Amino acid sequence: MAATPSPTRSIRLVRPPTLDGTGVFCVRTGETATFYTFREIPCAIGGRGFVVHRLGLGTVYHVRVGDRLDCSCECLGYLAHGRCKHILGLLALLRSGQL
Ligand SMILES: [Zn+2]
Repeated sequence: MAATPSPTRSIRLVRPPTLDGTGVFCVRTGETATFYTFREIPCAIGGRGFVVHRLGLGTVYHVRVGDRLDCSCECLGYLAHGRCKHILGLLALLRSGQL
Protein backbone atom coordinates (compact mmCIF):
# COMPACT_ATOMS: atom_id res chain seq x y z
CA MET A 1 0.00 0.00 0.00
CA ALA A 2 1.34 3.44 -0.84
CA ALA A 3 2.28 5.63 2.09
CA THR A 4 0.25 8.53 0.76
CA PRO A 5 -3.06 8.78 -1.07
CA SER A 6 -3.04 9.03 -4.86
CA PRO A 7 -1.78 12.32 -6.34
CA THR A 8 -5.27 13.63 -7.06
CA ARG A 9 -6.27 13.19 -3.44
CA SER A 10 -4.76 14.83 -0.41
CA ILE A 11 -5.51 15.00 3.26
CA ARG A 12 -4.88 17.91 5.57
CA LEU A 13 -5.15 18.06 9.31
CA VAL A 14 -7.35 21.12 9.86
CA ARG A 15 -7.45 20.97 13.63
CA PRO A 16 -5.37 18.59 15.75
CA PRO A 17 -7.30 16.66 18.40
CA THR A 18 -8.24 18.95 21.29
CA LEU A 19 -8.54 18.02 24.95
CA ASP A 20 -11.71 16.04 24.32
CA GLY A 21 -9.88 14.12 21.59
CA THR A 22 -11.87 15.51 18.66
CA GLY A 23 -10.05 16.88 15.63
CA VAL A 24 -10.89 17.83 12.05
CA PHE A 25 -9.31 16.78 8.77
CA CYS A 26 -10.08 17.64 5.17
CA VAL A 27 -9.87 15.25 2.22
CA ARG A 28 -9.48 17.01 -1.11
CA THR A 29 -10.22 15.02 -4.26
CA GLY A 30 -9.69 17.16 -7.34
CA GLU A 31 -11.78 20.27 -6.73
CA THR A 32 -13.91 18.73 -4.00
CA ALA A 33 -13.02 19.22 -0.35
CA THR A 34 -14.78 17.15 2.29
CA PHE A 35 -14.41 17.86 5.99
CA TYR A 36 -14.53 15.19 8.67
CA THR A 37 -14.39 15.28 12.42
CA PHE A 38 -12.57 12.40 14.05
CA ARG A 39 -11.96 11.09 17.53
CA GLU A 40 -9.73 8.23 18.62
CA ILE A 41 -11.47 5.44 20.49
CA PRO A 42 -10.03 2.47 22.40
CA CYS A 43 -9.28 -0.48 20.13
CA ALA A 44 -8.53 -3.87 21.69
CA ILE A 45 -8.03 -5.93 18.52
CA GLY A 46 -4.94 -4.29 17.01
CA GLY A 47 -4.35 -1.00 15.28
CA ARG A 48 -5.81 2.33 16.33
CA GLY A 49 -9.53 3.01 16.22
CA PHE A 50 -11.19 6.25 15.11
CA VAL A 51 -14.75 7.45 14.82
CA VAL A 52 -14.92 9.52 11.63
CA HIS A 53 -17.92 11.78 11.02
CA ARG A 54 -18.45 13.39 7.64
CA LEU A 55 -19.60 16.94 8.28
CA GLY A 56 -22.90 17.97 6.75
CA LEU A 57 -24.19 14.50 5.94
CA GLY A 58 -24.19 12.87 9.35
CA THR A 59 -22.48 9.72 8.14
CA VAL A 60 -20.37 8.12 10.86
CA TYR A 61 -17.74 5.49 10.14
CA HIS A 62 -15.67 3.48 12.56
CA VAL A 63 -12.20 3.26 11.05
CA ARG A 64 -9.33 1.08 12.25
CA VAL A 65 -5.79 1.67 11.05
CA GLY A 66 -2.47 -0.02 11.75
CA ASP A 67 -0.67 -2.85 10.01
CA ARG A 68 -2.28 -4.00 6.79
CA LEU A 69 -4.34 -6.68 8.54
CA ASP A 70 -5.42 -4.18 11.19
CA CYS A 71 -7.14 -1.81 8.77
CA SER A 72 -10.90 -1.80 8.41
CA CYS A 73 -13.74 0.63 7.78
CA GLU A 74 -17.52 0.54 7.60
CA CYS A 75 -17.95 2.46 4.36
CA LEU A 76 -19.09 1.01 1.04
CA GLY A 77 -15.72 1.73 -0.56
CA TYR A 78 -13.95 -0.49 1.93
CA LEU A 79 -16.55 -3.23 1.63
CA ALA A 80 -16.16 -3.21 -2.15
CA HIS A 81 -12.42 -2.68 -2.52
CA GLY A 82 -10.80 -3.52 0.82
CA ARG A 83 -9.44 0.01 1.17
CA CYS A 84 -10.88 3.48 1.24
CA LYS A 85 -10.06 7.15 1.62
CA HIS A 86 -10.75 7.05 5.34
CA ILE A 87 -8.06 4.43 5.98
CA LEU A 88 -5.60 5.93 3.50
CA GLY A 89 -6.15 9.39 4.92
CA LEU A 90 -5.72 8.42 8.56
CA LEU A 91 -2.66 6.30 7.67
CA ALA A 92 -1.12 9.29 5.91
CA LEU A 93 -1.67 11.45 9.01
CA LEU A 94 -0.29 8.75 11.31
CA ARG A 95 2.79 8.10 9.18
CA SER A 96 3.59 11.77 8.91
CA GLY A 97 3.47 12.02 12.69
CA GLN A 98 0.42 14.29 12.82
CA LEU A 99 -1.63 11.87 14.92
ZN1 LIG B 1 -13.94 4.09 4.67
